[in-house]
Amino acid sequence: FADRDGLIWMDGQMVPWREAKVHVLTHTLHYGMGVFEGVRAYRTPDRGTCIFRLKEHTDRLFRSAHILGMAMPFDKATLNEAQRAVVRENGLAEGYLRPMCFFGSEGMGLRADNLQTHVMVAAWEWPSYMDPEASERGIKVRTSSFTRHHVNITMCKAKANGNYINSMLALREALDSGAEEALLLDNEGYVAEGSGENVFIVRDDRIYTPDLTSCLDGITRNTVFALAAELGYQVHERRITRDEVYIADEAFFTGTAAEVVPIRMLDGRQVGSGARGPITTRLQAMYFDSVRGNRPQNREWLTPVA
Ligand code: PMP
Repeated sequence: FADRDGLIWMDGQMVPWREAKVHVLTHTLHYGMGVFEGVRAYRTPDRGTCIFRLKEHTDRLFRSAHILGMAMPFDKATLNEAQRAVVRENGLAEGYLRPMCFFGSEGMGLRADNLQTHVMVAAWEWPSYMDPEASERGIKVRTSSFTRHHVNITMCKAKANGNYINSMLALREALDSGAEEALLLDNEGYVAEGSGENVFIVRDDRIYTPDLTSCLDGITRNTVFALAAELGYQVHERRITRDEVYIADEAFFTGTAAEVVPIRMLDGRQVGSGARGPITTRLQAMYFDSVRGNRPQNREWLTPVA
């Protein structure tokens, strides 16, 4: 992945992809204290390539850094410009963006009082996170044996690098068991989220999702709230049990990378009809129309890169 052409924004400058390097004593590499975002850019019919909800992603990046106590060396406007620039200067019509803030190699140890925050933004083509057919067919999910973070162990409101050890363990276990994604429960046993997605269920024409206690405040989740409201649905945020997912009429995951993906099976049990349900179908279509600039009412969510 490192050996390719292109440009990466690092600490205020564009550097050739192959030269965007750090030292092995980079602090974040050792202890996992860093924050990042996953953002997507899509081609639109009339405004060229646009970044979807750029402001909200940058705001969350800053909130994550604030939670971890990492001083940000750049302001939001600079990072928004950097994100537009990496898409534009790499000539991407559509792509995935990865801004990250990390501690450098200025020092070692847990005191972390002699470190600088560095910032990078890369972008690349990443068409479909799941199997391309997954968005239509739905995916098989397995409840994880790994518990999602407790709110007082790692900070769940921060999209922090180290938090993703838990996600990777859960996803690996799910994949090894023949499923495509993991469903993680919180430390009390209630449904929290996927390894990199928020989760929703539909039952008796009502839409539910776990409250934000131990899941990430997803931007796709927030987008789905707005789209559901247009359809006349208020999304109810409350505790959900795994067996409520088993008996749901529909269930789906949301995330920037995964977009809106139906869940057709959980723990070997068919969810609803075992296919993409009608409400999932509508919300997914509205989501794709929003990100691709085909819904005039959601234009403010799009930032052109040019
Ligand atoms: N939960 C976790 C653990 C995630 O990593 C992500 C992806 N950022 C999400 C939920 C979904 O968040 P978003 O819709 O902002 O991508």
